[in-house]
Amino acid sequence: MTTNTPAYIALGHAALRAKAELASENLRCCGLCPRRCKTDRTGGQTGYCRTAARAVVASYDAHYGEEAPLVGSHGSGTIFFSHCNLLCNFCQNFDISHEGAGRRVSERQLADMMLDLQDNGCHNINLVTPSHVIPQILGALVLAAADGLTLPLVYNSSAYDAVESLRLLEGVVDIYMPDFKFWNPIIAAQTCKAPDYPEVARTALIEMHRQVGDLIIDDDGLTRRGLLVRHLVLPEGLAGTRDIARFIATQISDNTYINIMAQYRPCGRAHEISALARSLSALEYERALNEAREEGIGRLDQRRRVFMIR
Ligand code: SF4
Repeated sequence: MTTNTPAYIALGHAALRAKAELASENLRCCGLCPRRCKTDRTGGQTGYCRTAARAVVASYDAHYGEEAPLVGSHGSGTIFFSHCNLLCNFCQNFDISHEGAGRRVSERQLADMMLDLQDNGCHNINLVTPSHVIPQILGALVLAAADGLTLPLVYNSSAYDAVESLRLLEGVVDIYMPDFKFWNPIIAAQTCKAPDYPEVARTALIEMHRQVGDLIIDDDGLTRRGLLVRHLVLPEGLAGTRDIARFIATQISDNTYINIMAQYRPCGRAHEISALARSLSALEYERALNEAREEGIGRLDQRRRVFMIR
């Protein structure tokens, strides 16, 4: 095995299959994520994420809008899962996350999507909003790996992830790309009915970093392993950028790669909260960047800064 070998290949087929089987047992009384709905998804019931036994996929394609270390020359092979276990009221993909636009797929179909993305030259398989479909992803990965998949996996989540579920992904996922959305439990309760989000996200990021470490970027500017954190700045400081940056710099690593994102605009039911009813200003974004730097964040993604400064 070379250093470019994806974790799930190094793990071996039998161990990967065992993880997939263990994960699928969760579907009978679902506690995959912190919502812990306890529904029997194998019997067609759905919980907060409105997803039963089969994953729902909105789209899959080579994507060039992700961070540069994922995109390279041939794009990041994104698979957008429909529905969500967090459901922010301002979601920019409201039709996919809240309304479930997409089609139900079997594990075989999901595996074939992964293999298609590899055939198209993508540099990784980027699983967008995966927290509620971990068993289905692992089941598909068993099939795809047996058929020659060798791309690293990107777990691109909201960070509303249970540690027990993340442990199922240990030795499987190469790149974790969580958001850290809000620091204040009151804001988390108002926006996504998850007052425990800040605590869950802190615990999840610590676990993700324990598994894969800081982001490693090779001579071609691409990554195959590590932690990349996203943080969307919200108007009026609602996201708590300074506190999040301090936590990451002191409790995770001051070498953490972070994309501080500027593209907030009101979508979905954002108008329910007056501060979220307008776009972010350039001044607010600059202030957030300065706060991150002051708290010790030195490895900031460069790509999107020009987006907001106008
Ligand atoms: S994955 Fe879905 S059904 Fe399972 S606990 Fe989370 S929200 Fe509930």
